[in-house]
Amino acid sequence: MLKILNFINGNHCEAVNKNFIENSNPSTGLVYSTLPDSDEQDVERAIESAQNAYNSWSNISAESRFKILNRIAELIDEKNEELALAESIDQGMPLWFARTQVTLSAQNFRFFATAAMQYSSTNHSMEGNYVNYNQKSPIGIVACISSWNLPLYIITWKIAPALATGNCVIAKPSEFAPATAFMLSEICYQAGLPNGVLNIINGRGEKAGNIIVSHPKIKAISFTGKLSTGKVISTLAAPLFKKLSLELGGKNPVLIFADCNLEKAVKETVRASFLNQGELCRSGSRILVEEKIYNNFKKAFLTELKYQSLGNPLLNDTKIGAIVSKQHYDKILSYIEIAKAEGGKILFGGEPVFPKGLENGWFISPTVIENLKNESICNREEIFGPVVTLTSFKTEVDALEIANSTDYGLASSVWTENIQTAHRIATNIKTGLVWINCWMYVDTKSPFGGMKNSGNGNSGAWNIMDFFTEQKNVYIKY
Ligand code: NAD
Repeated sequence: MLKILNFINGNHCEAVNKNFIENSNPSTGLVYSTLPDSDEQDVERAIESAQNAYNSWSNISAESRFKILNRIAELIDEKNEELALAESIDQGMPLWFARTQVTLSAQNFRFFATAAMQYSSTNHSMEGNYVNYNQKSPIGIVACISSWNLPLYIITWKIAPALATGNCVIAKPSEFAPATAFMLSEICYQAGLPNGVLNIINGRGEKAGNIIVSHPKIKAISFTGKLSTGKVISTLAAPLFKKLSLELGGKNPVLIFADCNLEKAVKETVRASFLNQGELCRSGSRILVEEKIYNNFKKAFLTELKYQSLGNPLLNDTKIGAIVSKQHYDKILSYIEIAKAEGGKILFGGEPVFPKGLENGWFISPTVIENLKNESICNREEIFGPVVTLTSFKTEVDALEIANSTDYGLASSVWTENIQTAHRIATNIKTGLVWINCWMYVDTKSPFGGMKNSGNGNSGAWNIMDFFTEQKNVYIKY
């Protein structure tokens, strides 16, 4: 049994209360690890250790920070296979995909290591012999709370910029996929990160997470998770005037126009729908197809699905792995039932799958549903699983109206060979990310984040460096 521990002041430890939570391997349905069920006592210890470390960490040179963060990146790269295997077993994603996410996690540290060296203040001359400059200082102790869907990638996407800007961090991985954050703590220790600079608290969201968010000494929270949790966190944080970076859910439209390269559009839309079991905030879940090619697209899309092998995440040819938890598996299946009740026609899948040897695991067939109204629950609420809906549209105006009709606004992809259509859609669609004739690409140099209820768009590049700092303007008369 793998025993995941908290990481406080450079030491691995159980929860003070000795309570723990069981965590299962989604491919087998069997408990294979335990993690601390942390409470106030653990959070207090983490805060104390962060406080003790802060003065020194916030004052060391940017180059010293760079060296440690860059070393963490190197160690993540060196342990790629080990981390990927742990991620795949813990989360259910195919191993080959986990390897790509570990590589990106190393890149997160490398990018923000170098960003620490480049981050600078501005100054402005003013009329009347005045000059002003701004100082960017770390905030102090910040929280990084992450989801289970890309466990290592998302937590490093937060921790790296928080550390690069000189903050001390209390991180909380998801209780459903805590393994690689535990391994990261060991890597940080090996890389020479001083004790107390990064503390990792495991536990339940509504308990440990809540305590972290409410703690008066934590002044900024970077959160990735559900819209409903984002609302709870906003409510707790607002009276304490904490800074919030929220990366929330999506109900992402894919717009397929009749003039697109159909073969590419079909292949990439299958990927956009089912990569990581459809458990990506960027997954396309509402496929809108121009009426003229609806039947052709549908036929090609359903044919392509036959090549999406589902099963053991550790096998090289597996495209679709297991669903992270029983709770989430039940939730996805319940949405499929809702879709049926709403008059949806299941074109493909729509049911659990029991791969040979993994009959107790949580697998769901890729599922394609048509005939649902735009107002239906399954076209509005985030399912976050291998379930997509197909809808036809007549004109570009209709397509935009449908695309913009949910409360979410995270990402969209558009397939057309007409550059004018592409630009018009990119301008008028209400999503923080737009991919034209592609999907999934994210550049760490660029801002990242959703519009509307998908978050407040504070992530990526300098945005997140600014988020993790406080700025002060100094005016001088000379
Ligand atoms: P979740 O909201 O259930 O949990 C996220 C994290 O918050 C976990 O660590 C959890 O323990 C913690 N948490 C839960 N309740 C809390 C509380 N009251 N106070 C403090 N912390 C609390 O989300 P999830 O199921 O882990 O993740 C899936 C969601 O994340 C989806 O909606 C997905 O779209 C979203 N997501 C968004 C992005 C993005 O960039 N916008 C990226 C990945 C995932």
